[in-house]
Amino acid sequence: MILLSTILEEYTETHDPALIEEFKQALWGSKLKLKKRKLSYKYRVVDSLLQNDTELIEMFDRHKKVEYLNNRNRYSFDELEYIDFIRIRINNLYAYHFDSEVYLDKEYYRLLSTAANKYYEVIGQLKQDENIHIDTKEIEEEIKRSFDLAEQVKTSSPNKKLSLSWDEYVELVNGWIDHLFDLYKTPESYEREHGWEYRNEAIFTEENYVINYFNKSIKGKTLNYIRDSMPKYIACDRCGETLEVKHKNTRYCKVCLKKRRKEINAKYYMKNKN
Ligand SMILES: [Zn+2]
Repeated sequence: MILLSTILEEYTETHDPALIEEFKQALWGSKLKLKKRKLSYKYRVVDSLLQNDTELIEMFDRHKKVEYLNNRNRYSFDELEYIDFIRIRINNLYAYHFDSEVYLDKEYYRLLSTAANKYYEVIGQLKQDENIHIDTKEIEEEIKRSFDLAEQVKTSSPNKKLSLSWDEYVELVNGWIDHLFDLYKTPESYEREHGWEYRNEAIFTEENYVINYFNKSIKGKTLNYIRDSMPKYIACDRCGETLEVKHKNTRYCKVCLKKRRKEINAKYYMKNKN
């Protein structure tokens, strides 16, 4: 098992890039790959609970399992290496902020669970009054509408995530790691500068200190990256129309920009004519 604190401490003395490489190889070589697993909203159709109504049974049978993806995050702590704690954080940050298939709007999951909710609702109604009229068609239409809406939420949610591939994210993180190696302070020098008496903390270990340092920093850098990459909008200085800021000097919409250029050119022409 490699000790992160040893690698980092050695780096503060030698600045040997091979140490960064060793760290990265352990990180990306970790067996905790970014993986997704299928979960589902499901129920078991019990004919008798539906009063043996064939129409109801068949309808609920068609929707008894609705799958969705989830970030796989189950592991046993005993198997983990220290570097894995950083890898898990990186995997989760990617899944949460960039993966368009997991950690979606709550509304998406609520819509997907419609069939299961309806099933239990109908069972409850029949239990209270077995002669109650249940409109099977209407229920199925509602279920289908919900699934369609769920697809819409998935593809056009206002909280849509920034698009970034895993490989692109790895590249960003690699750049941050180089920087973090150079900024790293050993617990001793940190304590000298900040007077932080970490040794009094029962849970303190040098490995936790390093893990914490990388996890906090990578999270902060990820959030900054997102903030800086999200499109920004301003109102055109002339007509007030909303426009996306493409560069620092953006002030006018396309139409007004054209008009302005014409005016400037005309002024220039008049000046030179006299
Ligand atoms: Zn304008």
